[in-house]
Amino acid sequence: MTKLINGKEIAQNLRNNLKKEIDILKKNTGKVPGLAVVQVGNVAASSVYVKAKTKSAKEVGIEVIDNHLPEETNQKELLNIIETLNNQANVDGILVQLPLPKHINEQIILDSIHPDKDADGFHPLNVGKLSIASHNDENLLIPCTPYGCLIMLKGLGVELSGKNAVVVGRSNIVGKPMAQLLLKESCTVTIAHSRTKNIEEVCKKADIIVAAVGRPRMIKENWVKKDAIVIDVGINRIEVDIDGEIKNRLVGDVDFNAVSKNAAAITPVPGGVGPMTIACLLRNTMIAFKNSYK
Ligand code: NDP
Repeated sequence: MTKLINGKEIAQNLRNNLKKEIDILKKNTGKVPGLAVVQVGNVAASSVYVKAKTKSAKEVGIEVIDNHLPEETNQKELLNIIETLNNQANVDGILVQLPLPKHINEQIILDSIHPDKDADGFHPLNVGKLSIASHNDENLLIPCTPYGCLIMLKGLGVELSGKNAVVVGRSNIVGKPMAQLLLKESCTVTIAHSRTKNIEEVCKKADIIVAAVGRPRMIKENWVKKDAIVIDVGINRIEVDIDGEIKNRLVGDVDFNAVSKNAAAITPVPGGVGPMTIACLLRNTMIAFKNSYK
């Protein structure tokens, strides 16, 4: 029987635990973690994500310092704002919502965030620490989406060590850090991407597949071996015809209905990886707060 991995529920448990921990920290220090949320412009999807992150942060007791800037903000102005936040005592984590407008170089902005306040875990120093096995994960600021995937995998209670894991996608924010995390768990990791030959055959060998591509329902039933574990990171908006009416639907990178017949466990879209990403952002903010007391 295929297990449906309920990201909503796991994320809720994570948030409940974070709230308890923040309540205790507040009693002990008189302070709460602070998260600066920086959005430039008004991309609709970004506004939805920022709203959801802000709401969740407040619910667990994190103070949100909102910085919604106009589209015309230039790179120098944004760098100045980040410099101010880097030095601001009540800010433990800084989140810059991506994508930024085209006239701003994203990497320069991400690199300018102080590594200790890097709520997304994208700073080169934190990326480097993740790849060094001796660092203790407990204190690391780890990219939120792949860390959320790892928590879901660990929650299944199966031995990860020695498993063949295939990560489809090699982005800096999902695919590459996911591969690092799986490697740390002693999986044998393959990263597939747009130039991979015979990708279907590569996926078929996987005990664990993490799909982070951005192509609706690309991973088909015959790409997945029986009893594989499938984590679907993709969020794709497609139009579907329902009784003659065209409606928008969110689907993943995995052909869920077909693949779920044979998989041992699978995440749905929506309600899988998405809620975990936000919960892990809150986790990073609290880690940054706790690290500042060390
Ligand atoms: P990117 O566009 O940055 O990366 C996509 C990756 O997929 C690239 O490495 C690309 O390969 C690879 N790829 C593209 N086409 C193919 C193909 N036909 N076959 C094999 N590989 C292919 O995307 P992200 O990593 O940022 O996001 C991936 C998906 O995850 C998106 O749907 C996004 O919306 C979603 N997402 C979901 C989050 C969540 O919280 N649930 C968070 C972040 C992202 P190459 O490098 O060769 O171009």
